[in-house]
Amino acid sequence: MDLKECIRLIPNYPKEGILFKDITPLLKNSDALQYTIKQMVKFCENKQPDIVVGPESRGFIFGTPLAYELGAGFVPVRKPGKLPAEVERVEYELEYGTDALEIHKDSIMPGQKVVICDDLLATGGTVQSAIQLIEKLGGEVVGICFLIELTFLNGADKLKGYDVQSLIKY
Ligand code: 5GP
Repeated sequence: MDLKECIRLIPNYPKEGILFKDITPLLKNSDALQYTIKQMVKFCENKQPDIVVGPESRGFIFGTPLAYELGAGFVPVRKPGKLPAEVERVEYELEYGTDALEIHKDSIMPGQKVVICDDLLATGGTVQSAIQLIEKLGGEVVGICFLIELTFLNGADKLKGYDVQSLIKY
């Protein structure tokens, strides 16, 4: 199945000069959605993760069915102030200024195996922060899967040493 056909390209969104990859046509296509999750499961199942981590917000969409199929738990990584209990936090650089991501402190036990799942790898800043949060809690990142990778932004360079899969590349 050619998943690329299910991605809609939106010029100048959310800013001038960005060609946004819209995943909603894939999500509403039952065959494409099923195929996507099955491919992610194939990549992950021999890694036997205890937990799937999904960054806000499109990481929730793919991460939760992936966790369900793997018999793993799902843990959200969220923007500051969204998680109600005690959090671990990392800050990361943006083009202008900084942003932060948080995870519940009790969401991963030391030694647990973790897969990270997100819709898209761009610069790699988001997934790098997720890795830092997981490793701060003592989790072991055993795999990282994306629906889409923007190879021209070289985000994979930040993921050397990790087992990474992306289903669609631009
Ligand atoms: P990074 O931190 O790798 O630069 O950016 C990746 C994050 O930004 C992902 O969580 C992803 O959801 C979001 N993102 C950036 N560009 C796009 C895009 O073109 N399409 C979609 N669907 N998400 C994007």
